[in-house]
Amino acid sequence: MGSGILLIGYDVESFPRSEKTVKFLEMIPKIHEEYNAPCSFFIVGRTLLAHLNEFRKVYEKYNSLIDFEQHTFSHKVFKNLVIEYRNYMFKEGASLDEIKTEVRVTSEIMEILLGVRPMGLTTPWGHYRGLMDRPDILRALWDLGIRFIRSWARNEKDSLPVSLDVQPFWYDSINKIYPPILECTVQGWHDNALKERLKSREEYIKYVKDNIDYVSEKNLIWSYVQHDHSSFWKDPNLEIVRIMIEYALDKDVKIISYKQFYEMKLSERLRYMT
Ligand SMILES: [Zn+2]
Repeated sequence: MGSGILLIGYDVESFPRSEKTVKFLEMIPKIHEEYNAPCSFFIVGRTLLAHLNEFRKVYEKYNSLIDFEQHTFSHKVFKNLVIEYRNYMFKEGASLDEIKTEVRVTSEIMEILLGVRPMGLTTPWGHYRGLMDRPDILRALWDLGIRFIRSWARNEKDSLPVSLDVQPFWYDSINKIYPPILECTVQGWHDNALKERLKSREEYIKYVKDNIDYVSEKNLIWSYVQHDHSSFWKDPNLEIVRIMIEYALDKDVKIISYKQFYEMKLSERLRYMT
């Protein structure tokens, strides 16, 4: 008996303007339309400005299938990182004021230029345990209208992968000090990081199928990240995305957008509370 959910979130973040991103914005929506498989875009603000016409076209034609969320204005990391598997690479986290500006400006330009106010956010780079140690950031995001995030995207060594057993949760169900934001997590590898390490497309496809098998058997949620710039890795026609969608549908794994997932969790939560 197959079950489980696959959430496909694309971080669209190339800057300056990139032909790859133009191609990505042209091709990805068509594939998702063909399978009637919703997905989400987490968009960097400056990337939107550099590809505005392309984003507008996608929004006009596909906004019932693709939901438009944000990935900050200039991809600033929220907290310090010491990434063990990259030889202890250090990334310095932004200040709370910088984070607020990054998120506020991006929501504003998305509203003005596309007509959509994002409710969801992927934090650049991602973190271990998400934003659990930063209730101040969570409160700031809540005040800016953010209701679901993908911030738990690294393991305890600030490395990858994150176990599929780390599942989405409400922050306030862990501790009442947090606002009721849904942490969607990103499990497994970030596609670009895994692609750097693999030699063949087949190895990547095997990884994707193994994860789908796992969530299907255990009735879990796989929150998957792929990037505009790495989508064409050994794959000029985006066949990997097709294979992933077909394999999930074949296993009865449901494919929904992050916004749909949030709405589903919210209505479960409200039912439980009444
Ligand atoms: Zn990113």
